[in-house]
Amino acid sequence: QWIYLNGEFVEKDKALVSVYDHGFLYGDGIFEGIRVYNGNIFKCKEHLDRLYDSAKSIMLDIPLSFGDMQNVLVESIRKNELRDGYIRLVVSRGPGDLGLDPRRSPKANVIIIVEQLAIYPEEAYLNGLKTVSVSTRRNIPDALNPKIKSLNYLNNILVKIQANLAGVGEAIMLNSQGYVAEGSSDNIFIVKRGVVYTPPCYVGALEGITRAAIIEICQKVGYPVKEEPFTLHDVYVADEVFFTGTAAEVIAVREVDARIIGSGAAGPITTHLLKEFRSVVEIDGVK
Ligand code: PLP
Repeated sequence: QWIYLNGEFVEKDKALVSVYDHGFLYGDGIFEGIRVYNGNIFKCKEHLDRLYDSAKSIMLDIPLSFGDMQNVLVESIRKNELRDGYIRLVVSRGPGDLGLDPRRSPKANVIIIVEQLAIYPEEAYLNGLKTVSVSTRRNIPDALNPKIKSLNYLNNILVKIQANLAGVGEAIMLNSQGYVAEGSSDNIFIVKRGVVYTPPCYVGALEGITRAAIIEICQKVGYPVKEEPFTLHDVYVADEVFFTGTAAEVIAVREVDARIIGSGAAGPITTHLLKEFRSVVEIDGVK
């Protein structure tokens, strides 16, 4: 397995960065998780747009142009002979001193890891996941803007810990006002009377690329779709609930906080959207 590290491909156990890297010391950096389907990088431009926007927002200079970054992504999957899998692209502030000052970290680290993906078993897509809501709250734009896909994932890790304690794979995070925000690493959707709802990102959700693809598919196939804040009550009484994300794609939820959702398995609209999504991913990529 070859890791891209600052302009070179190095073997996995030789891919090392400094303990003074502010990505390590402070979570100072950004990342993307990207899917490769059939040798194509899915939504490459969208992921790189989000990466470069996150970088601009936190004043992090990425030492590669957009085009060069696209080329090294392609090179990474070629070098690793990956047809289907996952790319983790990380840009950290780079090595500095023990102070916070980013001016002391003049050179960002750029890392690309390409891997096979451990995803949910197909059974989970048919039967849906059990999930719970957790007490960890998502920051809304008065703190770190949720549009920045930063390396600060402690909040999400706390959600994951709560999910683990409850024995479920994904959990629902609210924002400080009690509106449903998202999962630990997935966006959330609900369906009620044929209308598909997802929280607007200002509620405290990442502007997910899968989320955007699903909104687009809804519009194409004719499901009304609304970005509206909603509460846990709306989730409990929804006809269908599903998560979206690069790794999970579109995964149904069959139970939330011990309330059975709909028929207790993947609903018809979720199933349809997953099918449409899987047909889109095969054609919509960068080789
Ligand atoms: N929300 C969070 C917090 C995430 O980390 C992710 C995964 O990247 C998502 C949502 C889903 O976003 P995407 O569809 O771009 O993978």
